[in-house]
Amino acid sequence: MPEGDTIFRTARTLHRALTGQRITRFETVLPHLARVDVDSPVVGRTVESVEASGKWLLVRFSSDLILLTHMLMSGSWHIYRPGERWQRARIHMRIVLHTEPILAVAFNVQVAEFHSATSLERRPGLSSLGPSLLASEFDGPEAVARLRAHPHLEIGTALMTQSLLAGVGNVYKSEVCFAAGVHPFRVVRSLSDAELTLLANTARQLLQANVADLANDSIVTYRGFRRTIGRSNPEERLWVYDRAGQACRRCATPVESYRQGPDARTTYWCPRCQPAQAFAAAR
Ligand SMILES: [Zn+2]
Repeated sequence: MPEGDTIFRTARTLHRALTGQRITRFETVLPHLARVDVDSPVVGRTVESVEASGKWLLVRFSSDLILLTHMLMSGSWHIYRPGERWQRARIHMRIVLHTEPILAVAFNVQVAEFHSATSLERRPGLSSLGPSLLASEFDGPEAVARLRAHPHLEIGTALMTQSLLAGVGNVYKSEVCFAAGVHPFRVVRSLSDAELTLLANTARQLLQANVADLANDSIVTYRGFRRTIGRSNPEERLWVYDRAGQACRRCATPVESYRQGPDARTTYWCPRCQPAQAFAAAR
């Protein structure tokens, strides 16, 4: 699943390319979108903004029309100049927004809906999103309050629950817990407010750093090899994710892994840097 920073970057790229542009042609293979286009045509409208909300991407058109997409596992948005060769096969195309200078193509988006501002507010899933970690003003206390409402949830799972706080995917789940020194299988109830705040702030910092780092397309949390390896290989850019059995970069203890949560996504942690019980006195 694309992480929050990937969607944030996609939204920013689309926002820069599309804002102020008039739609000259609208293509879709999705019948429910095509039907709306017949009733209230997209062509002729101007793109007012493109933004990310958690893992959702919203394209706002003039006269109260909003295109909502969710990329789930395999979806993506690309931008091309007219006539430019696409990087994915046309069979994966779901939506094309044509404007004079560029076209924006949505490939394999699993959820795509048209909304008005009113229907968007009522939409389940979107309206219940927790504070966005990449919002310019992140509501930390609200995120902590939402986490507190689920005392029995393991923190690794809680961090990925978008209705509690929005933006963390499977890679960041492990990286954030490591950076905060918190065992991912501890339940929310066992964590102090200071620990929950640290987790939320750490998640925000890691996500923001990756948004700012335009040179890199992959997620980077561990930067220790940067000076010694010119083009770091992706496995060398993370603290614990996908490093089961390898030495912890901080203490050399082998990294552990286990499936976690309703989707059984693998979580990675260092048993020494992230003790199962908090050693409050010793630390
Ligand atoms: Zn360690």
